[in-house]
Order: sequence, then structure tokens, then C-alpha cells
Amino acid sequence: TQTVYTFGGAADHSDPRQRDKTVTGGKGANLAEMAEIGLPVPPGFTITTEECVRYLQEGAAFSDKLHADVATALAHIEQAVGKSFGDAGDPLLVSVRSGARVSMPGMMDTVLNLGLNDETVQGLAKTSGDDRFAWDSYRRFIQMYSDVVLGLDHGAFEEALEIAKEDRGYFTDTELSADDLRELVSEYKSIAESELGQPFPQDVNEQLWGAIRAVFDSWDSDRAKVYRRLNSIPGDWGTAVNVQAMVFGNMGETSATGVAFTRDPSTGERAYYGEWLVNAQGEDVVAGIRTPQYLTKARREAAGAELPSMEEAMPAAYAELARVFDLLEAHYRDMQDIEFTVQQGKLWMLQTRSGKRTAKAALKMAVDMVGEGLISEEEAILRVDPMALDQLLHPTLDPDAPRDELGKGLPASPGAASGKIVLDADTAELWSNREEDVILVRVETSPEDIHGMHAARGILTARGGMTSHAAVVARGMGRPCVSGASAVSINMTDRTLQIGSRSLKEGDVITLDGATGQIMGGRVPTIEPELAGDFGVLMEWADRHRRMGVRTNAETPEDCRTARGFGAEGIGLCRTEHMFFDAARISAVRAMILAENEEGRRAALARLLPEQRSDFVEIFHTMAGLPCTIRLLDPPLHEFLPTRDEEFEELSETLGLGVDHLKRRAGELHEFNPMLGHRGCRLGITFPEIYEMQARAIFEAACEVTAEGGDPVVPEVMIPLVATRKELEILRALVDRVAAEVFAEKGASVDYLVGTMIELPRAALMAGEIAKEAKFFSFGTNDLTQTALGVSRDDAGRFLGPYVDKGIYERDPFVSLDVDGVGQLVEIAAERGRATRPEIKLGICGEHGGDPESIMFCEKVGLDYVSASPYRVPIARLAAAQAAL
Ligand code: PEP
Ligand code: MG
Repeated sequence: TQTVYTFGGAADHSDPRQRDKTVTGGKGANLAEMAEIGLPVPPGFTITTEECVRYLQEGAAFSDKLHADVATALAHIEQAVGKSFGDAGDPLLVSVRSGARVSMPGMMDTVLNLGLNDETVQGLAKTSGDDRFAWDSYRRFIQMYSDVVLGLDHGAFEEALEIAKEDRGYFTDTELSADDLRELVSEYKSIAESELGQPFPQDVNEQLWGAIRAVFDSWDSDRAKVYRRLNSIPGDWGTAVNVQAMVFGNMGETSATGVAFTRDPSTGERAYYGEWLVNAQGEDVVAGIRTPQYLTKARREAAGAELPSMEEAMPAAYAELARVFDLLEAHYRDMQDIEFTVQQGKLWMLQTRSGKRTAKAALKMAVDMVGEGLISEEEAILRVDPMALDQLLHPTLDPDAPRDELGKGLPASPGAASGKIVLDADTAELWSNREEDVILVRVETSPEDIHGMHAARGILTARGGMTSHAAVVARGMGRPCVSGASAVSINMTDRTLQIGSRSLKEGDVITLDGATGQIMGGRVPTIEPELAGDFGVLMEWADRHRRMGVRTNAETPEDCRTARGFGAEGIGLCRTEHMFFDAARISAVRAMILAENEEGRRAALARLLPEQRSDFVEIFHTMAGLPCTIRLLDPPLHEFLPTRDEEFEELSETLGLGVDHLKRRAGELHEFNPMLGHRGCRLGITFPEIYEMQARAIFEAACEVTAEGGDPVVPEVMIPLVATRKELEILRALVDRVAAEVFAEKGASVDYLVGTMIELPRAALMAGEIAKEAKFFSFGTNDLTQTALGVSRDDAGRFLGPYVDKGIYERDPFVSLDVDGVGQLVEIAAERGRATRPEIKLGICGEHGGDPESIMFCEKVGLDYVSASPYRVPIARLAAAQAAL
């Protein structure tokens, strides 16, 4: 197999491996593809990801074959551009970039102008006719190479540059003459030499292999590892290396460089969008050192900016760029994120990829592109990441609430966030671990800040444009971001900051509106999101394409309403114990638990009955005939007991029993391992009067609501934590008996089902037997995970993190179902349950019912529905549709 693929010039791009991202990385595959469809791509070559993996496995050694193949590929570039690498007369210069399968901040980014040394710089000066350009390129190369390849501190170079300007009384870099730059180069070389203990490499081949090595090594840098962990990217993918002939955006006023999107990545609007800089090299745009200019006239005018747009300043190159945008969108059938350079009026494409976008933009683009005939409805469904919908489902700032505006920046990533100011990434992580909402405020961000950005609710930067690191990463993470807020100045020494005229300090609360760029003092109230428009359209498509139903886990009428608003088709789990904690009822609950005998319990339960009934009436009303699965009491009783002395005293007064007596009873209820103790159906077996009261409340409420003439209520009564058929047989008989009693009293009846949760391994294995008593199974994968893994769901937080880091579990098994292990139990139970009762209804109500990957598995097993918490319902609808496609 080939280790290196060439592109551009007369290269042959026919090997399908070359356009396979797993082989040549995203950047390499797309460069080959652009060259193949005739777009102007500077010639170059890509070293495969496989070579990176081999290099890392073989102890950082290059193979002989790679040496030979790189030499051949270099000759391809030399031939295509008519220059030779290291030629003192007319040197070929190259860029070296990393490029993994997916875009991955944290790896070595770019070395430009590689191939310059004391001799070739003279050749570049001669052939370009521009001494200043040549020496400036050399200066930039030494700094960049020293920083990213040699790992030297870039501060020393920046300081030397500042001093050079100061000594000469200059304000900007552009005032430096060719001679000034030549002096600066020799200073840079001595800085490098003193730090390295040897001269800056003059051999161009040594430079090239150094850069290739740096790219490969950067795959295993700490920053890259953090990013991979946060984004579940496997460590064995490796990165490709792209080596490409240089084109120069800094060859005077007819040259430029820029980044662009074919549609607005924030709103999804169909309009070219981007930033560019005249007479600059690529890094200048992203680094936020100079303020970039708008691409289009319309945007510039809307922003009231003075510097001309590219459309106005370089109409010919802009027209060519617009043509390329359209070609690329038609070819890739998706929004593209592009890097380009204009060298003396000629446009060159350096990169294209599917652009990162906000959830709002993803939705709008998917819906628009179906309308434009670019993609199908199915593709639109698959285009939107279900978890990204989360961004849209949460509140935004109340437009009518007063805002104490401190300043304004660019609306870099939408959404609203309030929190305490933190000034560095480590503090952000630390405070957020203490459950505090924080806003990370930085001059600009770099890949070293990723963990802090992740921990923060929102991000504010003083510098950088809409395509700065902060903006791109925040959009990807779904964090609101305001970037380039020049009114912000930070003093790291005393950890204070100034926003406009106001002085603030770390810990003060601010609010960001990422949709407008506003920065406000204090916390601003929020409002619920609108779910109409594109969101509604996509959801409708999703509903048409999914097979599984989507229900919700809800027990309050408010949650039920929210979930119905989000499209829930019923209740998959109503946890009745939550109703017991109500302040008005807890004393009756405690009286019931602490009662010495059945009689005492029955008296207390009689007080609870009307309360439970009215809960169910309200829920049945809200759900208007949709199926409602109501689970009978599940948690260990002592969870309801008082713990503080005041509580005991209060209870003693209401019950007329002594505090000591109550404490003794409470002590008797202590359990060593309550999760495996007196809970679930074991309560129903030992204290049948509890389940009797609950069943009565359910049936009385169902009869009452049905009698009102609305849609008939069909309650599904669910028994938790069953391990044996016998348990269910006893409790089903109890429920049937109470139903018959209620129906006789009322002279009316409703249809109902009795079923069980499958949340113990024994229940999964015995599902064939248990199904004889159950009309439905609902997989309680929280407990099933806990009992199958032998990992306490309440204590797992302390050790599961390292488990995931070490790859023992790929993801937290309480978040994403352990398909390999727990999944087997689900499969076995589904199969055995169906063998006994073919029409048995199967659902899932553990947290996994709202996790897209787990939903994929549920589709595979053929469950009838998933049940998720209210805010996860739309995510589940979309994920269920994706799973079905
Ligand atoms: C479960 O165990 O998955 C479940 C849904 O029940 P709970 O979380 O209430 O134990
Ligand atoms: Mg459970």
C-alpha cells in the first residue's frame, strides 16, 4: 500500500484510498478531491495516517520506504511548480500541516515557508523582486518552526520583534524595512541557537523531516489527548501530514488570505460568510493579531465597518471565489469551511471541509437544502446531531428583561449564559467542579484552554474574530461565545478586568448573549425557547421516519406539559415516590413508614389516598388519553425518614409519639446496602397495603377522568425490581383485585395493563417465565447497569472517570448503555419475553432512553418505544429516526 499520495499538478488521484479520510485525513482527502474537480490547489502530497500509527508504534522511527516515497513526492511538487527544494537560485517553499480524520484542535497546526535558509532567502528575494518580503518570510519561518517544531518559547521572539520596533520608533510590523528584518533574522537565529544549543537547521531536508516528526508526535500531545477524550475520538487513528507548495498572501496589495463559509455557520443563512486580510499569511486571520475585514459588501455595510470587503477591493478574485463556493457546495452537498489565499490576484484553495455549525444553523441548513433539492429528507435527518438540539431546547435571554450592558463583542456562538468570571482554564475547571457556573474570560484562547472552555457556561475573549479559536471551538461545543470584545482588558496580576468603564474582578457575575455579542453585568432572566419553524419541520420528518415511539419520564403535571410540548407520545415512567416527598404529605408518609403494624399503616395510607388520586387525575388530564406507565413505590422506605432532630421533634408532635420511640423505629429501618435491600416489589410483597392504596388511586382517577368523556385512560401499572415470576404473580393479582373492587364501586371500568420493569439480571434471564404475568416490559437500565456491572450508581462518579480515561469502558455506562454486556441482557429478555407473549410491549425507561447511541441499540433490538426526560424528548425523536434509517 502507498504511504504517500500526491495531489495537484499532473498527479493521478484515481486510487480511492486517496479520498478516504481514514487514510489521508480530512484535509488530505479534500485537497485531492478539490484538485480532481479542477479547482486551483497548490500541488503537494499527503503522508497517510497509517504511517503515523506505524511511526508511533515503532518507537518514533521513519521507514526506509517512507523516506523514498517522500523524495519521489517532493519531486512531483518540484516538477509541478518548476522550482527545486533547497535551490539557492529559485527555491521551492512548502507548508506542512497535520490533518486527522476529523478536525482536531490540539495537534501541531502549521509551518509555513519551510525551505528557507541563509542561501534560499537570497533566491526568494531575487525571484520575487522583493527583499522585504523574503526576509519577512524567513523571520516568520524561524519563529513558527522554533515554536511548533522545536518547542522553543515564542515569547523570546516576540520580545525581540517588539524591541526592534521600539528601537526604531515604529508602531507596526509593516514599518520594518528589509534591512531591519535581516537584522531581526540574525537575532532570531541566535535566540534559537542559545536555546537549542546548536544552530537553527539550515538543511532543508532536516527542516522537512523535523516538521513531519513534529506532526506525528503531536498526535500524542497532552492537548490532543484531552480533545480526543472530550470528543470520544479513538487514540489509534493517527494523523496524516500534508506538505504543499507555498502560495503567498503577503506579496503586496494584490495578495490576501482568508477563511470563509459557504453559509453563515451561526444562523445557517444562505449567504457567503467569512473574513480576509490583504497582504497577510494564513495565520494572521485566525490568530486575531490584525482585525480581519468582511468578505462581502452586504456584511460590511451591515456592520458599519470601514475597511473594504473583498467583494469591493478584489472583485475579480472574489468572483472566482464565489464560483468555487458554489462548485464546492454542489459537489459536497453541504456547507463548506474554506481556507484560501490570493497570490498576486490569483486564487488558490488551501482547504475545504464540512463546516462546524451551531445547532440552529445545522437545522436551518438541513431544512433549506431539502428545499433547494440538494439533499433528501433522510439526509437532512442524518445531518443534525441529536445532542446538538440541546442547545436549542434551553432558555435564551428574556428580551424584555433589563440589561446592564457593559460592552459588546462579536456574536461568535449563540445562546445565553450567566456565571462568575474566571480568568484561566484551570480555575474554570476547578470552580465548575464545585458546581459553580463560570464564564471564561481570556484575551484569546488556544488549544491549551480547551478543558476550561468545556467547563465554562460561556466564553468571552478580548481579541479574535468570528473564526478565531474561541469562536470555532465554542460553536462546536455549543457554548455561547462573545469574541473580539476590545472593550475588555484583563489584568492577570491582580486578577481584575475592565469592561468599558466598569471595573470587575474574578468571581463577579456577568451574562453573555452569544447571539448579539452583548456583555452584561449580573444575571439576566431567561425565557423558554420557541420550537416552531425549522425545528418543527425537522421533527415532523423525524416522526415520519422513525419506528419506535417516544415517551417521557415525568411525574409532575408541569413536566408532563413540557414533554408533550416537545412531542412525547405518553409517559414511559411515572415515579410515584416523588409525589411522596411533597411537604404537605411527608408527615403522612412518615407516619405510614413508622407505624408499628398494618393497622397504623392503613390509617396513614388512607390520608395519602386522596392526594395520590388527585396527582393521577391531573396527569391523566394532561396526557389526554396517551398511554401512562405508572410505577408503584420503589425506593427503600428509610429514604423518606427524618434525619435532623428538628424533623424528629416536628414528627413527634404530629404523630403524638415520643422522639426516642421514633428514632428507635427509624434505626430499625437502617439497611447496609439499601439499593439491594427492602425496596421495589419487595415493599409490595411485605406491605401489600401500600401498593393497594396506589392501585386504588390509579383506578379511581382513571375512572373519574374517563367518566368526564375525554379520551379514555388506559393506565399501565408497573411493578419495579422484579426478579421472579412469583413476585409478579402475587402483585398482579393484588392489582387485579383492587381494579375489580374499584370498578364495582364505581359501576364503571377502564382498560389497563399490568407489567414489570426488567432491571435485574435474573429478571432478564427469566423473562420467558415473567412474561407469563406481564403485558409489558420496561427496561430499567439504570438498575440493570448497576446490578450487572456490580457498580453502585450513586458511588460510580468517584471511579468511573479514570475507567473511561483508561478505555476500560468507552463511555460512562450509566450515560451510554454498555451494549456489549448489559445489552446482551436486554436482548435476551426481549427475545425470551416475545417467545412467551409475542405481542408483549417493550420499552426502555432508564436514562439511556435519551442517549442517541443507546437509542440506536434499542432500534436494533426492536423495542417498541424509548422513554426520556422531557428535555431529551426531541433528541430521542431525532435519534430514533436516525436509528431507523
Ligand atoms: C431504572 O432503574 O433504570 C429506572 C428507570 O428506575 P429508577 O431510576 O427509578 O431506579
Ligand atoms: Mg430502577
